[in-house]
Amino acid sequence: MSGSPLFNTFARLPLAFERGEGSWLITSDGERYLDFAAGIAVNSLGHGHPHLVAALVGQAGKLWHVSNLYRVPGQERLGERLVEATFADKVFFANSGAEALECAIKTARRYHYVKGSPNRYRIITFEGAFHGRTLATLAAGGQKKYLEGFGPVVEGFDQVPFDDIDAVEKTIGPDTAAILVEPIQGEGGVRRIPLASLRRLRSLCDKHGLLLIFDEVQTGVGRTGKFLACEWAGVRPDIVALAKGLGGGFPIGACLATEEAASGMTAGSHGTTFGGNPLAMAVGNAVLDVVLGEGFLEGVAQKGLALKQGLAAIADEFSDVIEDVRGEGLMLGLRCKPQNTVLQKALIEEKLLTAPAGDNVLRLLPPLTATEEDIQEALERIRRASSAVSAATRAAAS
Ligand SMILES: *Cc1c(COP(=O)(O)O)cnc(C)c1O
Repeated sequence: MSGSPLFNTFARLPLAFERGEGSWLITSDGERYLDFAAGIAVNSLGHGHPHLVAALVGQAGKLWHVSNLYRVPGQERLGERLVEATFADKVFFANSGAEALECAIKTARRYHYVKGSPNRYRIITFEGAFHGRTLATLAAGGQKKYLEGFGPVVEGFDQVPFDDIDAVEKTIGPDTAAILVEPIQGEGGVRRIPLASLRRLRSLCDKHGLLLIFDEVQTGVGRTGKFLACEWAGVRPDIVALAKGLGGGFPIGACLATEEAASGMTAGSHGTTFGGNPLAMAVGNAVLDVVLGEGFLEGVAQKGLALKQGLAAIADEFSDVIEDVRGEGLMLGLRCKPQNTVLQKALIEEKLLTAPAGDNVLRLLPPLTATEEDIQEALERIRRASSAVSAATRAAAS
């Protein structure tokens, strides 16, 4: 391994791809893999989508980067469209999920600061959460294995057990600024906070003057069949972090807020060199052309239902392999009986790509543009892989 010039931070699969077409990834020797990981929910429109390619290439010939010293018309347009499509009045553009969350955390703290309560900076988060790998977002996520060896943990996060809203209520104190939650935990294992719990969080925030922050870096931009997953609960957030699917593969993050919640983010209070550059904005606007198009989100919900029903049938047949099927829209998880990587490897044999998660779950995150045939093909491969894992487990036991 010392031969690699790269940091040893990733346990990579021995696969490398040369190009992509829709839901498919193709190696240099022409092997075709059905991509139901989609770059961890990033390639929302699949690979090589003509509308995204045209937007990127068109912008590349005009202007790449100017910095935020100037107005960036593409930012204003994408901002207006995000405002139009959601609860938000204001948007800040960044380059990643963690950066979008950093902005969300700073926005919540500044809100109370300018309101005359600088002591209110603490944020309540949930066990199993994942909010990114910067020092503050690691502290928010609270996962010991990721915090180990990196010095003092950033102060100001109080973690409660998953979906324990009574614990949230008990934890709220005079210094609490906000509650931060993923409507469906992604890395944590496609674990959904019940809609009733999300509604209780909203009322707790109203009662105590807290801001409600949704981390929709993975669930947002149509992944669950609504533009934002919090729409399923009918809960209005104060701040939302977006990233993954928004750029369709181009790095973008966005922090959305109401005018009130963003009131502390005055000139000079935050910034970014790259965030919102013309290339990113051209692609982000092209992603929204498709995702906000007539009937697109309904299609995601329908395809998600078909995939989930097919998976439930496979789980019935191979209950020794798949224990539970969970999730919403095209963000689905298989809770595995054997180690999740056993099923993942069997699926790679079938040339189907998936993404492992916590709680021994294997995530299916196909492009939102996956066709019904792609979904049927994936189901056949999952059935074959499950059958192989089941047979191998039985053979090992006898
Ligand atoms: C991926 C992810 C992040 C971090 O995004 P990066 O772009 O890797 O910084 C934060 N929150 C959630 C819910 C995510 O899924």
